[in-house]
Amino acid sequence: MAAGDKGQSSWLVCAACTYPLVRVEELIEEKFECRKDVSWSYELDVMEQQIWCYSATNAHDHRFDVVRVLPTGLSRSLAVEGKPTAEFSWFPGFAWAMAHCCHCNRHLGWAFYPEARPTSEEHSEQPADASTSELAFFGLVLTKMRESRLHDSTVEDIFARLRSPQQQGSSTLRSLRQALRPMLLTYLSRQLAAN
Ligand SMILES: [Zn+2]
Repeated sequence: MAAGDKGQSSWLVCAACTYPLVRVEELIEEKFECRKDVSWSYELDVMEQQIWCYSATNAHDHRFDVVRVLPTGLSRSLAVEGKPTAEFSWFPGFAWAMAHCCHCNRHLGWAFYPEARPTSEEHSEQPADASTSELAFFGLVLTKMRESRLHDSTVEDIFARLRSPQQQGSSTLRSLRQALRPMLLTYLSRQLAAN
């Protein structure tokens, strides 16, 4: 781990909106089995850590450099969309679903789930959707993220804000209304008196 100032941590943040996505401790360093015909693995320095990355090509011939990340960022930083599918998965035994930035909704990579059924059953649909089955790990595209040093207190504030955007919005509006009400009443009574 990077030696640094107290109260600061290394993060991978969204390249589009700088929202904190992956804390350095959430990176998975170990080499993992990947589909050899469409991907290969290599070691790379990410946030001063030597980790295994995967250069993988999808069904549309797009190549991505992907890093594996613990599932702890689910809901906090990353949102998963749709039902997992095992079709063209880079990691044997794992089905994938799309993963997006919680803040700007930009596509960042994929969420990987253990395959629910043996492959012998043809056309078998995954019984559970992304919200109910157990997430194993994320595979996130390195070029869609940036390295950043952030204060822990700043990160906590950012996450707290995302957790309760409506609550905060409505309470601000309520206090604004409360502050304006006497002024409005004074104004209205003056108007009435003038007429
Ligand atoms: Zn974002």
